[in-house]
Amino acid sequence: MPKEKPELSDAMRKKLSGSSREKKPISGTKFTIAISSAKGGVGKSTFATNLALALKQNGCKVGLLDADIYGPSIPKMFGINEKPKSDGQKLEPVIKYDIQCMSIGFLTDEKTPMIWRGPMVTSAIKTFTQQVNWKDLDFIIVDMPPGTGDTQLTFSQGIEMNGAIIVSTPQEVALLDVKRGIKMFDKLGVKILGLIDNMSSFTGDDGKKYAIFGEGGVKRTAEEFNKEFLAEIPIDPNVGKFGDLGKPIVESDPNNKISQIYVNLAKKIKSIYF
Ligand code: ADP
Repeated sequence: MPKEKPELSDAMRKKLSGSSREKKPISGTKFTIAISSAKGGVGKSTFATNLALALKQNGCKVGLLDADIYGPSIPKMFGINEKPKSDGQKLEPVIKYDIQCMSIGFLTDEKTPMIWRGPMVTSAIKTFTQQVNWKDLDFIIVDMPPGTGDTQLTFSQGIEMNGAIIVSTPQEVALLDVKRGIKMFDKLGVKILGLIDNMSSFTGDDGKKYAIFGEGGVKRTAEEFNKEFLAEIPIDPNVGKFGDLGKPIVESDPNNKISQIYVNLAKKIKSIYF
């Protein structure tokens, strides 16, 4: 835990949240960071869960909000099967690995698809941001659904977002959507902390590095839009294995090279805010 948490000046808060004062912070939370990808399947939820755990390793109190209403991943990736308790007014987050978690997946059957219209999604997001008893959090990490839809709008219009991180693979087809995502956050006035190149390459047993999805595309996109390139995270089958087992790699194997990338990144993010 950081010991002293200095009050943010108005100027600093504005710089981090981008704009308007009508936006409210999520109660019980100092900073809200969105993890976004324009396309599905690029490792956004894997990144969100591991970053949350890496921030915890850096001494922060962390919450994880699964805002992917149609495809919640947090219950599986954190191995959570319990339902959140309620005091009749507010939901209690489910605590796992010292992280306060909330997901629509805690409230529904895993095998039942969510067939909801936009207004219902908006209402679920409002419940998760206003009716959950988040407690004393330094950061809340929001796992956004892919794309640029209702959830992104609901968040960026009503909630003080202090930063966004965009995750992508280096593939051209993913990068096209990343460009749309960057423009959306810029337009909505949410500060983009930077871009992540996930599944950047694979190193085989022969020691050779294979650029499976191409090379350098995320970095080039970051440069093109004048955004920071935060990190590249290679492909490691253990990442998927531990995710499927409900204990992400940063928690399962903190000394792994990939876990170290996450811990260093979390340190950098913490230093932006504290
Ligand atoms: P998204 O949230 O973008 O849809 P996921 O986080 O569900 O993507 O990841 C998609 C798949 O890729 C999962 O099976 C996950 O385990 C795997 N994956 C993500 N990052 C890596 C990585 N660095 N190395 C190996 N597998 C990865």
